[in-house]
Amino acid sequence: MTHAVSLSHVSCIFASGKNQVRAVDGVSLDVQAGEFFTLLGPSGSGKTTCLRMIGGFTLPTAGTITINGQDVSQQPPYARPVNTVFQDYALFPHMTVLDNVAYSQMVKGVPKAAREAKAMQLLETVQLPEIAQRKPGQLSGGQRQRVALARALISEPQVLLLDEPLGALDLKLREQMQSELKTLQRQLGITFIFVTHDQHEALSMSDRIGIFNKGRLEQVATPQALYDAPSTRFVAEFVGAANVFDGDDATRLCGTPVAMIRPERIRLGASDGARTSGVVQETQYFGTFWRVRVAREGQASVLVEVPVAAGSAPPSVGETAYLHWADDAAHALNSAST
Ligand code: ADP
Ligand code: MG
Repeated sequence: MTHAVSLSHVSCIFASGKNQVRAVDGVSLDVQAGEFFTLLGPSGSGKTTCLRMIGGFTLPTAGTITINGQDVSQQPPYARPVNTVFQDYALFPHMTVLDNVAYSQMVKGVPKAAREAKAMQLLETVQLPEIAQRKPGQLSGGQRQRVALARALISEPQVLLLDEPLGALDLKLREQMQSELKTLQRQLGITFIFVTHDQHEALSMSDRIGIFNKGRLEQVATPQALYDAPSTRFVAEFVGAANVFDGDDATRLCGTPVAMIRPERIRLGASDGARTSGVVQETQYFGTFWRVRVAREGQASVLVEVPVAAGSAPPSVGETAYLHWADDAAHALNSAST
């Protein structure tokens, strides 16, 4: 089967003074046609560099990139069937919204009436037909984001690359755009490769996620598989809250050298049958749950999420807490990695 996008042992090394930066280090990855695929990782982990290599803005130092089975590794951006929505949107401030959206068609020599009709159609797709004659400076952040999207979609790319497109929006608008973007992607059936450092955004939007750590792809999986069965400590701690146990503590509590338990899988209960215990150090309120930090003598502290129910109260700081969990709450992590 031909993949929409395939990376095979792709690396990108930048010279930085006398040093070399391995921005992307031996990444292999297959993205399916029509998939919403997210590159997730901390700042500086190589996500943008990886996306730029797929778009053709940066050439790989080593490895091969194919799009629909065609080797594009050395091709310039315009020769690739992809388009990019940049983080800052890069709209032309002196042009109207309509002209911004129609820009690539103008460059291609499409007649004015035809390109404007197509641009209007795209503005309807992103639900903004009424602002066609405004300039970008007269738009809200969310509107600018949608114009950038329309402008990238007008060339009918097979793959759309999006680099933190919602990063500049406030939380409420970001959540709205997350759901709109996901709906639009389904409707158009285009392959999306989406970059974010926000785990909630990645979990809620993606078909699959690739986790980046220091230029390497640490794990590729569905959101649920990443959350329930992270392969490494890094993934466990980057996606969601995690209690990671190691050494004798892990062996005693979970029967494996390194293990993870999500805070919501731990329950506070009676001393009888408790797996471990400690002293409540801190409680934080999150609306639907309290996050309780339990300090243990000589061992790592443990986070527990206690659901908020009518009339319930969190345990008091200083109180002894007894921790319970089911056998299947503990997930073994790869002990070789850090
Ligand atoms: P991310 O998007 O995950 O934040 P980047 O891909 O932008 O990460 O950067 C990965 C690493 O490569 C960082 O250490 C960054 O400083 C470095 N880097 C990125 N672009 C360049 C460049 N043009 N020259 C030198 N180093 C770069
Ligand atoms: Mg980046």
